This record gives sequence, C-alpha cells and structure tokens, in this order.
Amino acid sequence: MTAAHPSLTTAEALLADGTTVELRPLGPDDHRAVLDLHAAGMSEESRRMRFFGVSRNAPAQAADRLCGPSRTGVLALGAWAGDELVGEADCELLDEPSRTAELALAVADRWHHRGVATLLLEHLVHAARAAGIRFFEADTLYGNQAVHQVFADLGLPVRRHHAQGEVRIRVPLDEGDEHYRSAVDERGRRADVASLAALLRPASVAVVGASRREGSVGGTVLAKIREGGFAGPLWAVNPHAREIGGERAYPSVSALPAVPDLAVLAVPAGAVPGVAEECGEAGVRALVVLTSGLGPQEAGRLIRACRRHSMRLVGPNSLGLAQTDPAVRLDAEFGGAFARPGTAGVAVQSGGVGIALLSRLTWLGIGVSSFVSLGDKYDVSGNDLLQWWEADGRTDLALLHLESFGSPRAFARTARRVTRTIPVLTVDAGRSTAGRRAAASHTAAAATPTVTREALFRQAGITATRSIDELVAAAALFHAQPLPAPRGAVAVVSNAGGIGILAADACAEAGLALPELPQGLAELLPAGASVRNPVDTTAAVTPVELTHLLRALEEEPAVDAILVCLVPTALGAATGEDPVRALVEGPARRRVPVVAVLLDQQVPVRYRSCADGGVLPAYSDAVAAARALVHARDRARRLAEPPSAPVAAPDCDRQAARSLVDGYLTAHPGGGWLDPLSTADLLAAYGLPLTTTVWVRDEQAAVAAADGLRGLGHDAKVALKAYWPGQVHKSAVGAVRTGLATDADVREAYREFTKRFGAELVGAVVQPMAAPGLELLAGVVQDRVFGPLVVLGLGGTATEVLADRVARLAPLSERDLTTMVTELRSAPLLFGRHGGAAVDLAAVRSVLTGLSLLAEDVAELVEADLNPVIVRPDGAVCVDVRVRLERRPSFDPYLRRLRRPAAAGPAFEEE
Ligand code: ADP
Ligand code: MG
Repeated sequence: MTAAHPSLTTAEALLADGTTVELRPLGPDDHRAVLDLHAAGMSEESRRMRFFGVSRNAPAQAADRLCGPSRTGVLALGAWAGDELVGEADCELLDEPSRTAELALAVADRWHHRGVATLLLEHLVHAARAAGIRFFEADTLYGNQAVHQVFADLGLPVRRHHAQGEVRIRVPLDEGDEHYRSAVDERGRRADVASLAALLRPASVAVVGASRREGSVGGTVLAKIREGGFAGPLWAVNPHAREIGGERAYPSVSALPAVPDLAVLAVPAGAVPGVAEECGEAGVRALVVLTSGLGPQEAGRLIRACRRHSMRLVGPNSLGLAQTDPAVRLDAEFGGAFARPGTAGVAVQSGGVGIALLSRLTWLGIGVSSFVSLGDKYDVSGNDLLQWWEADGRTDLALLHLESFGSPRAFARTARRVTRTIPVLTVDAGRSTAGRRAAASHTAAAATPTVTREALFRQAGITATRSIDELVAAAALFHAQPLPAPRGAVAVVSNAGGIGILAADACAEAGLALPELPQGLAELLPAGASVRNPVDTTAAVTPVELTHLLRALEEEPAVDAILVCLVPTALGAATGEDPVRALVEGPARRRVPVVAVLLDQQVPVRYRSCADGGVLPAYSDAVAAARALVHARDRARRLAEPPSAPVAAPDCDRQAARSLVDGYLTAHPGGGWLDPLSTADLLAAYGLPLTTTVWVRDEQAAVAAADGLRGLGHDAKVALKAYWPGQVHKSAVGAVRTGLATDADVREAYREFTKRFGAELVGAVVQPMAAPGLELLAGVVQDRVFGPLVVLGLGGTATEVLADRVARLAPLSERDLTTMVTELRSAPLLFGRHGGAAVDLAAVRSVLTGLSLLAEDVAELVEADLNPVIVRPDGAVCVDVRVRLERRPSFDPYLRRLRRPAAAGPAFEEE
C-alpha cells in the first residue's frame, strides 16, 4: 500500500448519535469499498448532488481518484463502521499559490444526519492545515441543502459565490479559530453524552456470568439490580444454569428475547473478549466489565471489540455503576448499599475507595446522581463523566477519586469548562511527581518541587483535597451552603476563648483573612465578652444572645463567612440553654456561609438540620472546617474571574514545524533530543528568539563561522559549544567556552573539545556572545495528568539554588502571560524595581506565547528547555535550548477522537 499523507492519521471517534466510527486514510486497498459507497450506498439523487448530473462512471472515477496511485496534494479520509465505508471526505490541491484545495464529500444514504460528514471534515481540516492548505473550495448544486447545512454548522467562516444554479463554497482554514474550536467542542460534548446514555440510562440490562453460587460477583450484581428496582427488562446470561434466583437464565447474549442496551460482564478474564465480541455482534451499546486480571492480549481484543461495535466500556476491574434517577434506578455494582438519589456525581478508580466514599456520603445525607467505578479505565474516563454530569440536569457537585482523568489535554480543557457550572472535587493523590521526575532537563526537574499539584488543579478549576476526609468535609460545605464572597473574610465565634483562638489560627493558616469587627457587637453579648476576631462570647452566652450576634455578623459587610466553634458548658446543660440551639433554631441559609465546629462531636463532619429546613455542616475540628472554607473561597475567586482568552497565534509556521517533527520521528522512531539545527528551526517556526547559531564540524569551520559572525557586526566575541547526541548539561563537563575573542581562542577551544570528548564529539555550535542581562528559564514539560505545562523561572546558574518558577497549563491565557511574570519571586528584577532598568516584558510574553502554541500544536514535544533566555531592556534572546520529541498520539484541540489506553498494547498505542 502506498503511504498515506503523514498528516492523515487513524482514529476512532463518536458520531453525533454516539456511534463509534473509525477514520482511516483511504488507499489502494479501499478501491472496492469506495466503489460500493458511491454505487450501492448512495441513491441516484445523492449521486446527482454529488457529481452534478449522473454519470454511469462516476463511482468508478471516484474510486480511481481516491484509491489509485497516491498523488501528492490529495488527502482522502474514510469513515468506517465495522467493515463498511460509510463516508468519505477528500481534498486535492487545486491552486498552489493560494494553497486552495478542492473538497469533496460523500456519505452513504443510510448514514445521513448522524454527523459523518462533519466528523470527516473536522479531521480533514486538521490534516489539511498540517499540510499547509489554506482554503477549501467546493462547487455544490444550489439545491443541495444537506451540504450547505454541513458547512454552515462546521464553525469555520464560509464564503458563498452563486453562479448558474451552482454555489461555490470557499472555506478559509486559518480564520475564526475560537469559534471553530467551540463548535468542535460542543459537538464532541454532545456525541460523548449521547454515547454514554446506553451506559448510564440503559433501557435494558443483561448480566453475563451471573451464577447461582453464593457471593459470586455476577450473582450479587444481578440480585442488586433486581432489588434496586431497575425500571427496564433485566436478563441473566449463563450457559451453565437454566435459572438463577428463580428467574430464567439464557445460554448466551444472542439467545436473549431482545438486545440489551447494557451488558455487565462478570466472566473469567479469558472469556471477556469473546463475550464482548458476542455482545457487539448482537447490538449491545455499552459494557461494564467487572472482571479483573486481563492480560495485554485480552485487553487489546476487548477494546477493539468495543470500538468495532460502537460500545462504550467501563472497566475492566470495575465495581460497577449506579444510576439513581427514579426513571432508571439501576444499581449495577457489588459494593455497598444503593446510594440514595441526589445530586452528587461520584467517580472512583478503586472499588474500595468507592465503597468508603459512598457510605460516607450516604451517612452524611448527600445523595448521589450517578456513581461509576471506572476501574482500569480502558475507555470511559473521568473526562467522560464530567461531561455527562455537566449535561444530565441532575448533578450539581462532582466528586472524583482517580489517579488520572483520561487524555490529559482533554482533561485540562474539559475541567476548565465544567467547573464553571458545577464544583468538581478530587483527592490529589500526588502520584504524578514520579512521572515528571523521569524527565531529564532543568525545566522538567524544575517543575517538580515548586509547582504544586494543588496549583495545577486550581488552574483547571478543580478543588484538590489531600484525603477522603478532606474531600467529604469540603463536599459537605459545597452541598449545603452558599459560596462566600471571593475575599473570603471569616468571623470566628466561640463560647470558650482558648478554643476560639485555635480556630482563628486554623483559619489564618489555611489562608483565610480575619477582619476586624465593630466594637458595637459587644452590646449583644454578656459582660466580659470580646468582639475582636475571634469573638469570645464567654460561656455565659445564651442562645438568644448568640442568635442576635449571628444575625449582626451576617449583615456585617466585612464578613464573608462565619465559623461558630462551641463547647458544651455545664451552665448550658443545667439550664437547657445550650448555645447550639442558636444554630439549629435559626436558618441554615444566610447571606454568608456558616459552618459549625462542635468539639464534642464524635464524627469528623455531619449535618445539623435547621429551622428553615436547610442544613449546616458541623465539624469536630476547626482545621477541617477552615480547609473547607478555603476551598469554597478559592472556587468563589475562580468564578469571579472573567474568562481570559487563550493567547492568539502570532505568525507561526506550523507546517514547517510539523514536517520537521514528522521527519525527525520517522528517522528516530524511538524519539530523542533534536540536533542543534533542527532545534533552531523549530524555535524559529514559533517566533522564539534563539540567537544566531552556526553549526560547524571542525576547527576550520569554527574559525570561519566566528569570523562570519563578527562580519555581521555582532560583538567581537563568540561562544563555542561542543555537541554530541544526548548531551545533558554542557558547561558542567566543559563543553561551553564563552567570550572567545580571536581566531586563536576559537582554535584553542575547538582543539580542547577534540581532546576532551574524542570520538564522541560530532561538531559544535558557534554563537555571538549575547549582551549580559537577566537569565531566565522558559520551557514546556508534559504532565501525566494535565498535559503540557509552560514553565517560567529564574535561569542560568541560579536555577537550582533559587528554585523560583511558575508553571501554567497550556494553552496559556492572556492573563497567564501577566501573572506568570508577577508571581515569580524575582519579579522585581524584571520590573526594574531593584535599581536596574525594567526588562522588555513584551519579549518575555512573546516567548511564553510561542511556547504555549508550540506545546499545543506539537503533542510529540516531551520537553523544551530554554535556559537561559537572556532578557534585557531591549529584548530577549535564548542562547541554549534543548528539545526532546517522542512519538505520541497527535492531539489537536480541534480533533475529536476516542482515547486509546496503553493497556491495549503497543499495537493500539496511546496515552
Ligand atoms: P548548559 O546549560 O548546557 O551548561 P549553556 O549553553 O546554557 O550550557 O551555557 C552555560 C552558560 O553560559 C549560560 O547559562 C550563559 O550564562 C552562558 N552563555 C552560553 N552561551 C552564551 C552566549 N551565546 N552569549 C552569552 N552567554 C552565553
Ligand atoms: Mg543552559
């Protein structure tokens, strides 16, 4: 088979109705399929629309055109459902100077109105952009509504030119980026939610591998689904039993009276792929695999069966899932008790954690909308569930306990959007530091100690807690109380002075402000009370007095939240004047959030019901209450921040970068560090200011290069740096010589390299000496959970010692460009507050912008380390850069595709 164009890749993706199709470049082997698509798959009318006047030969011509010997300038992509080619989109370069390509589309009649054309177009836009095509052009018949609609919906600007019953459509590919991106996003979200419906709202369910054996997983789940009152038909499949629990069992999925939407598999690992295939053949739409211990082969076969037959998959090694919607009532898990219906969406990786979390929520009184134990996450991930909850109309709080969330970039993007509507809380298990430590360069190592995972979660809008306890404590507050104002100033009230001081300390340490309170409040309280913050009411306070105080504090403009910390007193016990009455006999819903700390409470957190029917979270410990408040404040701050647009693309040469990266990875399939020349080209493509760098292979060339640089009017001095593949830190091993003034210096330095590095030495680079300035480090690293991060810090020799860095999730926003600089401890040096002149901040921003775009476009970029970037009042220049590439799935934010888990084996490689 001839090689397809490199910018065309194979992917599985979801159609609008949630069906999975495979997208593949078309080649000679597909001739028959293309012929069938155009001949049998399309009516005469469709063909007329497609080819303007039916020609008997049109299908054959199409097949020849797309599947004949491959020609440069033709990109052809097919969409396959199993073995059937259901649609095709192609473009062919028409006009070289304007980079215009003629576009053609065909979708089998049976597959109309399911988003096949749009999906194909999105992928073709991606490939065409990478191939440097700037316009699509298509001639359509005036009456071809369907095609016009496809273009109208695509999200890219469309220009129409009418002439003689035809409409010429012209689509510029490099305009209207943000709009196109949101259109793609929106389609992706809808398709994802549609595909999850069979899983989370199935109309019928089969349990495969249900057995009569007491305590068997399948038998337990079957019984739970039945007892949970599942609304639809439920079937048991077991070839060895005729009936289970008094109900008829069927020997196979194909023997069932109807096709179930969802099949829950509790069969031995070896049988999973076969059963999955059987389910797929039968038309099942979703699988939950409870079985654990699948080998790589079985894993690969399971995933392929799911993709081939368009089934979404939870697990393997899942504890199951639950849907509490009264219209569904599905309790398909073998963990704890059926969660009570409510508004919290819960997803966990490990079953044990799931049981613990569910029982804590149930005990507390927080109901669940849906619960999913994701297990080994071969397909459905945290990302999918976030989108489901965002759209299900029932969920207002998402709780996640996952080691990773799915495709990292998709996660960062989805989380940032979803958290604008619902709070998302997670336990940060901090597992990914090891992953980052594995990377070698400064930037990579730099990101580890100073950039906390908590900060990254915060950027994604997610509330990260350190334990399940903290998660539940925060959830209790989010669920029951309003958010504080973003300032988050807390009034602490207690009936015992010492306890109040401890609570105030806890708030201050959590980062909450404690404002001064008006002295007039003292009039509401017993003699001896103090109304500094913390307020000490004294033990003599009555419920009535406390009630008045709470009302006054609620109205106090300086107060954004109230923490009431109470100890039982002998006085209160004797008189029945327990101050807790002031809380429970008052309203739970006030202008500001209220939390109680009750020191005699036996459990970490519980709800206290109040007079208005609402609830107050009561904690046994002030530290837990303060942490919960700080999480609420952080969320309030984030919501108050206006969204900031991603940085705009300056003139970058994406095509040059793409072909450079593809070329390198073709030559080095295992990945590695780019050589100096390619590195320079890659930087140039993104407008990153690398100093003039001349590559030389011997002493004579080095001298000539140095002379040349001097001739260009550079400073008389040059730097010479030895190069060999895989080098790490050059100056530490004597591979950098700076300030070389004469030919003799250059000669001597080169000879020294030859002596020192011997056969290892491949060559050297010669650079002009940059004028001195402030040395910064800038770069990109990949995070296992969040995807690419852009890092900025103090560079040069001080890098390690001072560890002054900030990191942000890519893509950066305009605001990030500003705050990255201001958050550095060394910011005053950049702003020139310490005597020197301010550096060229616009140049720093442009370095960050270039890195953000590079990180976004080049998924293969494992790390980029620019150290130092020498910044001065008159500009910024990088004198040392290292870039490492690895073959990874191409990820384009414009591209919808399903994740391919590593578990599926290298043949089915990915993330
Ligand atoms: P490495 O980081 O691998 O040790 P560099 O190329 O960064 O090697 O060189 C080390 C230091 O030498 C830099 O941090 C910078 O201070 C100085 N240096 C290197 N090249 C130049 C140059 N072209 N102009 C000015 N200073 C340079
Ligand atoms: Mg360096």
